[in-house]
Amino acid sequence: MKTLFPLKAFNNIETPFYFYDTELLRETLSVAQNEAAKYDGFHVHYAVKANFNPGLLQIVQRSGMGADCVSGGEVQAALAAGIPASKIVFAGVGKTDKEIAASLDAGIFCFNIESVPEAAAIEALAAERSMIASVAIRVNPNVAAHTHSNITTGLAENKFGINYEQLDEVIDFIEAQNHLSLIGLHFHIGSQILAMDDFIALCGRVNELQAMLNEKRGLILPHINVGGGLGIRYDAPDEYSIPDFARYFATYSKHLKLFPGQQLHFELGRSLVAQCGSLITRVIYVKHGTCKRFVIVDAGMNDLVRPALYEAYHRIDNLTAEDRPDEIYDVVGPICESSDVFCKDRKLPQTERGDILAIRSAGAYGEAMAFGYNCRTLPKGYLSDDL
Ligand SMILES: *Cc1c(COP(=O)(O)O)cnc(C)c1O
Repeated sequence: MKTLFPLKAFNNIETPFYFYDTELLRETLSVAQNEAAKYDGFHVHYAVKANFNPGLLQIVQRSGMGADCVSGGEVQAALAAGIPASKIVFAGVGKTDKEIAASLDAGIFCFNIESVPEAAAIEALAAERSMIASVAIRVNPNVAAHTHSNITTGLAENKFGINYEQLDEVIDFIEAQNHLSLIGLHFHIGSQILAMDDFIALCGRVNELQAMLNEKRGLILPHINVGGGLGIRYDAPDEYSIPDFARYFATYSKHLKLFPGQQLHFELGRSLVAQCGSLITRVIYVKHGTCKRFVIVDAGMNDLVRPALYEAYHRIDNLTAEDRPDEIYDVVGPICESSDVFCKDRKLPQTERGDILAIRSAGAYGEAMAFGYNCRTLPKGYLSDDL
């Protein structure tokens, strides 16, 4: 599905801004939901941190997905979008008392806990309320996902989750509490993962662990949550606008051994929202250096930090002029940092002051990560429905 950009409407909007192709978004959500529905007990939660634009969240809510949140603010955003508390899971290594209390009061489905002190804090706050809090243990499966080192999360050296050696101790602790109910195991190995082998490796670890817990403790928990991480094709947003959800869910169905009645939860972020979003920016100047040509745009690393933070590749389209002869450019922003570069030595149609560029595949971890460095205003997000 090829995104069509309403260039005329863009002329009335101050750049830079995010543009979301809602037709593609709805189609992506629907494909994901339909593919998951082919298997009994598969549930998809949208990872709110990828993009919490309220209009976009509304569309996610209408798809029937739950929400995976990593802060109290995200729990509130999910609730405000109408996602039922009964479909909200809350993960994160540093949940504060205030965040836990608000989530208990809202009646969320499950806390994915990452340490004994956190379990103790949830126990105390649930006790004050005479409630039983449902918790899952986030296990660190020590699987090395083949992705950028800043976005792997499932290695023993990462701060996330509970390592195997400590698992018994954590289960003992939870079972000894009066206001905690252990309902599941949670895993998340990283992001932008395209090799199904990494997910197969995770399935292997989950199977081992389940067998071990069943054998040693007679434990079978009702919920298994394998997190998210499915990657997208940044190199070809129009050709691969919708990720291969069929293959993704089939991989889990084939390789993960569930006990009868066990529910399997997924937390997908990037794969659901990345391709529908673009950062729209205007060329301020074209500057000829001694050995380079720079396209200087009005968007900066504060609007889209992924290239500066992860050396991420984003395709860039010149929407004003697709048919001029190619030149080689660095596309850079106005921020006073040398890392404020969207791409280096990129072949683009000859670019001029005033041209409108679309930085593609920016729907995930784009607007959500924007910040105000250099006194810049945060970029707004517009849905194609509203233009
Ligand atoms: C970020 C995150 C996700 C979503 O990751 P994607 O790569 O965007 O699919 C899922 N679960 C947890 C716990 C996360 O932190």
